[in-house]
Amino acid sequence: MNSLLARDNQAVWHPFDIFKNTENIFLERSDGMNLYASDGRVIKDMVSSWWTNLHGHNHPHIVSAIQKQAETLSHVIFSGFTHEPAVRLAERLKEILPNNMEKIFFSDNGSTAVEVGLKMALQYWYNLGKAKTKILAFEGCYHGDTFGAMSLAGVEPFNQPFSKHLFEVIYIPFPTAENWPEVASELQRNIASGGIAALVYEPIIQGVGGMRLFDVELQDKVLSMCKNQQILLVADEVMTGFGRTGKLFASEYLVTQPDIVCLSKGITGGFLPLGATAASSSVYQVFETNDKYKLFLHGHSYTGNPLSCAAANASLDLLLGEECQQAIHKIESMQKAFVQHLKGHNALEWSASIGTILTMSVVPQEKRGYFDSQAEEAYQYFLNKNLLLRPMGNAIYLSPPYCVTVSELQTAQEAILVYLSK
Ligand code: PMP
Repeated sequence: MNSLLARDNQAVWHPFDIFKNTENIFLERSDGMNLYASDGRVIKDMVSSWWTNLHGHNHPHIVSAIQKQAETLSHVIFSGFTHEPAVRLAERLKEILPNNMEKIFFSDNGSTAVEVGLKMALQYWYNLGKAKTKILAFEGCYHGDTFGAMSLAGVEPFNQPFSKHLFEVIYIPFPTAENWPEVASELQRNIASGGIAALVYEPIIQGVGGMRLFDVELQDKVLSMCKNQQILLVADEVMTGFGRTGKLFASEYLVTQPDIVCLSKGITGGFLPLGATAASSSVYQVFETNDKYKLFLHGHSYTGNPLSCAAANASLDLLLGEECQQAIHKIESMQKAFVQHLKGHNALEWSASIGTILTMSVVPQEKRGYFDSQAEEAYQYFLNKNLLLRPMGNAIYLSPPYCVTVSELQTAQEAILVYLSK
């Protein structure tokens, strides 16, 4: 075994290391779509390294922005101090987010972005002196691994050891044309019982919960039912933000707009950790007070880190450019065409695409959800073809960086076809 791998084995505790039969891969470097392993393999990153990478690994524009920033101001306490990269990023996010957003609160990852959104929503009602403390979420959702975010999630295996310490959440069944009448009346009953502070939701598509697409109209109906009853809408765009779904934000597919938006992952183009939570003017107003007990007393050491903000600004330069938008649309049309090709495949329960994401549910061999061994077997299968896919349970998906070429995407799609016909 490579000696670094042996040392890794001795010293490093990796996240989500559920693929026990698969050895970690020692990487030497990366560029574009490519991950270069020490054993000579060149692996194509078809999942954007946990959905973070937008423009390819080591993109020179982002590398140089980080380098410049590191020589100027690398980090500073963000209470009582500010700097150009954070101000510029906040202004630019306000320009591209749903237009009711007033303030951007920085943190450092997706879970903290959601945690902040959740705390803002709960404290909003506290500051107003209203007894609204209950939270709504969709069944099958995932919002991160901190306690608030875990409480929101319905993904059982992650949460079982902590179940006694998680707060209660009212779950809305995943709405479909078949169950909609019951879902709507149950939601109405829950709303009528009062005390609901917020609905936290992944717009358009659930990520870790199985890469499942919502029926847009039905999700919109849920949102408007909530909004009409003064329930705050907290959109978790951690996965869907920054062009993944074909629009800059998945909320753009919906008529009803959020009060709070949580961002991370793609925000820095996959270079550095950064979370951001945007609050609407009506939310922010409630925190504009001289009463110290009503301030938002939350922050992280690396909040608003200048290097992360500089990376995010550089990533936005690329994302908003014509070339990147065309690349997104090219990927989108290839994924759509492939779904047509997959229609009726007997190895699949369903397949779908939204923007750059292709997703499908393989007929399960076991019924162990996230722990289904099919996922590791598929992971291995694609790795042997030098493709990084990371199936979850029986969900197989592609979510490549936008620099993926036509032939790289075709290769991955063809590999999926061969895998399904095994
Ligand atoms: N929200 C969503 C929708 C996510 O997919 C994730 C992570 N997969 C998170 C929040 C948590 O983000 P992080 O891993 O950066 O804490």
